[in-house]
Amino acid sequence: MENLQNEYLFPEIFMREFLHTQKYPHARVIRLGIGNTTEPIPDIITSAMAEESKGGLLTVNLAEESGRRNLNETHLTVNKGIMGVDQTYYANRDDMRASLFTMETESRSTQKHAHALSTVEGYRGYGAEQGHMALRMSIAQRFYKNMGIEGNEVFVSDGAQCDISRLQMLFGSNVTVAVQDPSFPAYIDSSVIAGRAGNFQEETGKYKNIVYLNCRPENNFFPDLSTASRADLIFFCSPNNPTGNAASWHQLKQLVEFAKANGSIIVYDSSYAAYISDGSPRSIYEIPGAREVAIEISSFSKFAGFTGVRLGWTVVPEELLYANGFPVIKDYNRIVCTCFNGASNIAQAGGLACLSAEGYQAITNVVDYYKENAKIIIDTFRALGLKVYGGKNAPYIWVHFPGLSSWDVFNQILEKTHIVTIPGKGFGPAGEGYIRVGAFGHRETILEASARLKNFFVTDNI
Ligand code: PLP
Repeated sequence: MENLQNEYLFPEIFMREFLHTQKYPHARVIRLGIGNTTEPIPDIITSAMAEESKGGLLTVNLAEESGRRNLNETHLTVNKGIMGVDQTYYANRDDMRASLFTMETESRSTQKHAHALSTVEGYRGYGAEQGHMALRMSIAQRFYKNMGIEGNEVFVSDGAQCDISRLQMLFGSNVTVAVQDPSFPAYIDSSVIAGRAGNFQEETGKYKNIVYLNCRPENNFFPDLSTASRADLIFFCSPNNPTGNAASWHQLKQLVEFAKANGSIIVYDSSYAAYISDGSPRSIYEIPGAREVAIEISSFSKFAGFTGVRLGWTVVPEELLYANGFPVIKDYNRIVCTCFNGASNIAQAGGLACLSAEGYQAITNVVDYYKENAKIIIDTFRALGLKVYGGKNAPYIWVHFPGLSSWDVFNQILEKTHIVTIPGKGFGPAGEGYIRVGAFGHRETILEASARLKNFFVTDNI
């Protein structure tokens, strides 16, 4: 803990915003800093959390499931809440059929969620630590179709940020860690807390034992792996926060090959996959062989507006083994059971509704709305003659201010326009000279921000 530098980035930004509002109590502050969603969650999803689900959401096709290959060896976590038996990690075909059948019947009698908790028939306590099997299977089908991921490899959680830290518990403090530079700060900070980072070095702005993989426009935001040092764990986020860049299939193939050659595990964060619009991979498992080297973390936050509801998931494939041949999934299951007690059953009902055909369409419309915001912000900065990256595959725009300190640019924009952004340096040394601008906001706010920025840059000529 002593090795951590400053506060975690986002509370620090929040504090600066707070001080700014104290200084200018009448200013209308626009928040394009912390990536907090703003648009309402579609009614079909909130209704599923509150009352009647629209029916059929939890139905599992038993015939299809029982036809799968190797079902006898399938690892299955039998849902304690549903089966009323102790958790079993391995199950045979009959257990699986029984579990699915009970789940299906259960789903019919628990179609009310938040409201049902006030009724004798509808009340539910603990569920399975790994999440409801119906949701795990829906996630596998919706996001990992034809990638060989099964429901039992999906662990539902209360969000990607929590999973990043829980995953850190799998590995000892002597393992080495690599991160993209710049990157979402939780990877480094949780590695520091786990005792893996070594001392912070003021001269370089880097932790001694962390491998920083340089990702700048000059290298197409993808590190030169031929010169990169080996690390046991590689945190890789695509589309990347903060640069908004999505790695291509060929780049990810290189990453998987690099991990294989070095005996590394990739922790792949796909929290922004829903924003991809140029055909880049939405999952690391689109790359052949990734099941043997990668864990994937993802989230309902930015894709369904669940930043406050809290729901995410982690995929740990059965083929992922430690050097001694032991399956990582078994240890992860142990950690989830020890350090987590399952995601809220209300949030899970909402998650399931997001994955129905109608729910998915409704949340895709919200994602499209944010993408339209991103276009407005990109056009604004481009019109001012600035180099702009991202925004196409992610709700973040990465704006370059060559030769300037990112904290200075952040401070000036806040002071003169009352717009909160994030200084690029907060994401790592390679973020110096950049700011990150978020595309979450009501349309009129984004248009107002655009007008204020144009006015400021033209008048003050920063
Ligand atoms: N991963 C990345 C890359 C993020 O940017 C964020 C939040 O901004 C998270 C994870 C956290 O997601 P969650 O809200 O699911 O904890």
